[in-house]
Amino acid sequence: MDGEKAASVTAELRARGVDAVALTFVDNSGITRAKCVPVGRLERAAVVGVGASPSFDAFLLNDDLAAGRYAGGPVGDLRLRPDLDRVVPLAAQPGWAWAPADRFDQLGRPHPQDTRAILRREAEGFAERYLPALAGIEIEWTIYPARPDGGSRPAAAGPAYGLERVIEQADYLRDIVRALTEQGLTVEQIHPEYAPGQFEVSTAPEDPLGAADSSVLVRQTIRAVGARHGLRTSFSPAVVAAGVGNGGHAHVSLRRAPRAGQGSAPRAGQGSAARASQDSARRAGQGGSGEVLIDGTGPAGLSALGEHFAAGILAHLPALLAVGAPSVASYLRLRPSRWAGAFACWGVENREAALRLVTGLAVGGQAAQAPDSDLKASAEQWFHASPHLEIKCFDLTANPYLMLAGVLACGRSGIEDGARLPEPVDVDPATLPAAERARRGIEALPGRLAEAVDAFEADPVLRAAFGVELHDTIVTVRRAEIELFAAAGADEVVAQSLWRH
Ligand code: GLU
Ligand code: MG
Repeated sequence: MDGEKAASVTAELRARGVDAVALTFVDNSGITRAKCVPVGRLERAAVVGVGASPSFDAFLLNDDLAAGRYAGGPVGDLRLRPDLDRVVPLAAQPGWAWAPADRFDQLGRPHPQDTRAILRREAEGFAERYLPALAGIEIEWTIYPARPDGGSRPAAAGPAYGLERVIEQADYLRDIVRALTEQGLTVEQIHPEYAPGQFEVSTAPEDPLGAADSSVLVRQTIRAVGARHGLRTSFSPAVVAAGVGNGGHAHVSLRRAPRAGQGSAPRAGQGSAARASQDSARRAGQGGSGEVLIDGTGPAGLSALGEHFAAGILAHLPALLAVGAPSVASYLRLRPSRWAGAFACWGVENREAALRLVTGLAVGGQAAQAPDSDLKASAEQWFHASPHLEIKCFDLTANPYLMLAGVLACGRSGIEDGARLPEPVDVDPATLPAAERARRGIEALPGRLAEAVDAFEADPVLRAAFGVELHDTIVTVRRAEIELFAAAGADEVVAQSLWRH
């Protein structure tokens, strides 16, 4: 019961010196919004919630409000309720804790446009019908001196991936690792990235909802540690109009759960491809735990299930961009030959393919199977040892809940349809003559947000996964942001987007 659990969580937080708890949700423009309560009010917040206007669904990145058919009006109220299973004392904000919140209406029903609820539903449905998915979101960011003028020169001068940058910011980077670890996250890697003043951190994969929550927590932590070191943090996809940007690549995999038999019976009226892929999903769900994307039988060793799943994602990438690269600034980053994945193709370890198959440790032409007996332990070896899919075209202006829900929905649709992959691409597509790209069916992803939004608007899979209301609100918010920047040049888009996410 929420009340009892809240009482014990509150007692624990008090014992750890927590005075206040930030309850967050991410809006459709990708901004994390917060309502905060004193620790003594957490119990009440868990039971009756904290009031929040439904108009947040229609907020733009500059805090203007779009006028949507299903959002944006001043009337009504929602209740934010903290997820008590994910309350975390914040290491870099002493006296504070954080909890992701779910939004309910005043009758206690989940808000139909709550993105966290939509990811939970999609992930649970996927696990129930096929297999549990695992996910992780890679975080890239750029640091600046926190001067009143914002400081236009990054706060680390060393070369790309250079140790010098680590030495320059040694205390800062150590404090990030320490804070993330204290907050229960497993840091896989932290390193200087390509662009000036740019860094990256990756944490161990989790179930999709956990991964989306963690991406909020990781960014909040990086920002808070930075503030204590006199640094300002930008997660913007474009920090200079023509440079390499900050990505927010999504990593996904499918694992056999430790318990057997995850699949469900095919429904009446399904085609034979759907039945066959459900059969293979059911088979994949049986037996011990482990990797199921790769079994050596399909292209690049993908399993049938893995191929269908990947093909579903690939086919929907232009539409998925509207939730994975959802801002006007996203398209300053999403350019060829910058490892951002600007082409709608897949490839094995190809960093210019929007969909990269990461094979992990290849042994004798086959990806290594992590010697795992339980899901968490195997998950923690995942980045290094296990094959998975990386969607590179996404960035951190995405609402992570929407992004992962969209990916799972499209992968699910690929499984249902028995979708097949085209040939993998093993070069930077930008280096191929246009005629060769056309012959191989390699298309550039949308170069403008407007194109992605059109594809998203017409996408029945994403409309069904998000529900008509949220689907419509997302289109409204995107078009209002496009309008906001209609007359802006690239530098102005960068300037107005730099500190928002
Ligand atoms: N910074 C690149 C991007 O915009 C990604 C570099 C990498 O492959 O990690 O996505
Ligand atoms: Mg990177």
